[in-house]
Amino acid sequence: MLDYLLTEEQEMIRQLCRKIAEDKIRPVAAELDKQEKFPREIIKIIAESDLFAIFIPEQYGGTLQLPAGQTLGGVLNLCVATEELSRACAGIAVCYAASALGTFPIMLQGSEEQKKKYLPGLAKGEKLAAFGLTEPEAGSDASAIKTTAKKQGDSYILNGTKHFITNGEEAEVYVVIAMTDKSKGARGASAFIVQKGTPGFSFGKKEEKLGIRASVTSELIFNDCRIPKENLLGREGMGFIATMKTFDLSRPGVAAQAVGIAQGALDLTVKYAKQRQQFGKSISSFQGIQWMLADMATQIEAARALVYSTARMVDSGNTNIGKESAMAKLFASDTAMRVTTDCVQIFGGYGYMRDYPVEKYMRDAKITQIYEGTNQIQRNIIFLQLIKEMAK
Ligand SMILES: Cc1cc2nc3c(=O)[nH]c(=O)nc-3n(C[C@H](O)[C@H](O)[C@H](O)COP(=O)(O)OP(=O)(O)OC[C@H]3O[C@@H](n4cnc5c(N)ncnc54)[C@H](O)[C@@H]3O)c2cc1C
Repeated sequence: MLDYLLTEEQEMIRQLCRKIAEDKIRPVAAELDKQEKFPREIIKIIAESDLFAIFIPEQYGGTLQLPAGQTLGGVLNLCVATEELSRACAGIAVCYAASALGTFPIMLQGSEEQKKKYLPGLAKGEKLAAFGLTEPEAGSDASAIKTTAKKQGDSYILNGTKHFITNGEEAEVYVVIAMTDKSKGARGASAFIVQKGTPGFSFGKKEEKLGIRASVTSELIFNDCRIPKENLLGREGMGFIATMKTFDLSRPGVAAQAVGIAQGALDLTVKYAKQRQQFGKSISSFQGIQWMLADMATQIEAARALVYSTARMVDSGNTNIGKESAMAKLFASDTAMRVTTDCVQIFGGYGYMRDYPVEKYMRDAKITQIYEGTNQIQRNIIFLQLIKEMAK
């Protein structure tokens, strides 16, 4: 691996996560995937290891020390942790990373009171967070959401359905995007905090998935769900800005998940290629296989370099990061898909069988090209920014 000049703390995060991944996650990953079982015990271990605290500032119960005047950071910490956990199981890693996705809007737009109320519990990992944007008729076109939030006295009344929500039902704190003024289109959306257990808030279908099967993906149903007006994040109309800024922070995490998946699959494949004998020698002695492995290692390192540089840029306080975040997610997830498919190829017929771990990596890789904006949408984001830069 390249020397990324990580801080001592970041190296410790890597070692800690690697140990959790090897000792606690790898032995149960296949079974949890098979049973589609949420990894409560492992989330507890991750919480006790203070890993939910590494992207939350100290004054809100986290462990993150930020330079004076800066309110956000810890993205490289999160990326290092997510990559290492994903190396053993991306399904388990996403339960962790999705809590960061639900936490970021509170860090970005929360009032002092909201941050003090919600962040300490999330930093301890006592509570998980989730982010609810997608609806059955509104995926890539998020501006088509139909969930409404109507102001009524000191409350908002939420009605509508969100689907495909990671950590749905397992999380305690949900950031939900709803329309407060449909006539304003995208500028009529607002972000709200909704706590599990609020009357009128229930859970619907739990999805059965191709990959990341240890994570839970559920519907959130709001039926005349009354929440206090204090649960509005930022101002009315700021919901999509909160969403875009949240994705700028979280996409490097998806990219790190992809790097971890690709690296995990490559680790297994190098070992297998050395052991597997055909034509009287190990398959790793064939140049065709050697070049495939060399290409994979090179692509993974390039993806990691892009992800870490983007995360560093975010951590330095730079807020103009939409293009770079999109590039990191696009490149790392396409790399993960290509690498894991080639790993299955090198395992041959065994690679196609569930008795061998490599097919899971290929199934898990696919989602990184889809969620938090499909890779087509990432290309749109990159292109729009390119045009803007060229117009300057
Ligand atoms: C396992 C899982 C977990 C998820 N977790 C969450 C979560 O926690 N919170 C949340 O809010 N959402 C979540 N999602 C939703 C996810 O972000 C959406 O599925 C994704 O944004 C795509 O939306 P869609 O599925 O409706 O596809 P569509 O938007 O219907 O897209 C279908 C196809 O059309 C393409 N397409 C659409 N528009 C364009 C365009 N303008 N140009 C070119 N191609 C285009 C897409 O790239 C895609 O290939 C999750 C999804 C999954 C599968």
